[in-house]
Amino acid sequence: MRLVYPPICAGCGIMTGDHAALCAVCWQSVRFIERPYCEITGAPFDHDRGEGLVSPEAIARPPAYGKARAAVFYDGVARKIAQGLKYSDRADLAEMMAAWMVRAGRDVIDDSDVIIAVPLHRRRLFSRHYNQSAELARAVARLSGKRFLPAGLHRVRATERQVGLGLRARQDNVRGAFRTPETQKARLFGVRILLVDDVLTTGATVEAATRALKRGGAGEVNVLTFARVARSGEETLYA
Ligand SMILES: [Zn+2]
Repeated sequence: MRLVYPPICAGCGIMTGDHAALCAVCWQSVRFIERPYCEITGAPFDHDRGEGLVSPEAIARPPAYGKARAAVFYDGVARKIAQGLKYSDRADLAEMMAAWMVRAGRDVIDDSDVIIAVPLHRRRLFSRHYNQSAELARAVARLSGKRFLPAGLHRVRATERQVGLGLRARQDNVRGAFRTPETQKARLFGVRILLVDDVLTTGATVEAATRALKRGGAGEVNVLTFARVARSGEETLYA
């Protein structure tokens, strides 16, 4: 890694002496997500409603997944880091991001047997060389001692880019996009899965992926992402 990546801050680009991925100033600007948040969706509460509570949204429309957790809000430096991993081939960032995810996702990691990444369609994988979510999933598995299952889920339909789409359009966009391969079904049967993605926006992608895993025989599915958009409707601000 030292030979390949120059010691510059992934947030602002200044030199960092010790090959740290972030300088001290950028590090302090990252907004980590802490409780209290909805115990199901992981959405932070605007007001302190106390810990251990479930949001009205999760009660009205229970998601297919059990619980979702995220390390940071998707803005500022955290957004640059996520985009650096996605578009700039800075695979060195995955280790730091995964460490933050392990800290934020302790409960969902403990409740899981195997880790699966939200897959890219192979056409996009070809043009981008690697799947950023798989990089994160592999690093989370290494740090937590869980097993990473790289072929557990396939994206069978190339979907439009989700950027700029609202919830309904995103749901339509990802419907039927994922499938568990026949060869993996015996391995997935009844197993508790941690589904890893880089950014959670409306939740439409992880919802569709969760449904596909359950159709494939999986037991409970929990979700862990690096970042999440603060509240629905804001994703277009960051797109
Ligand atoms: Zn910096």
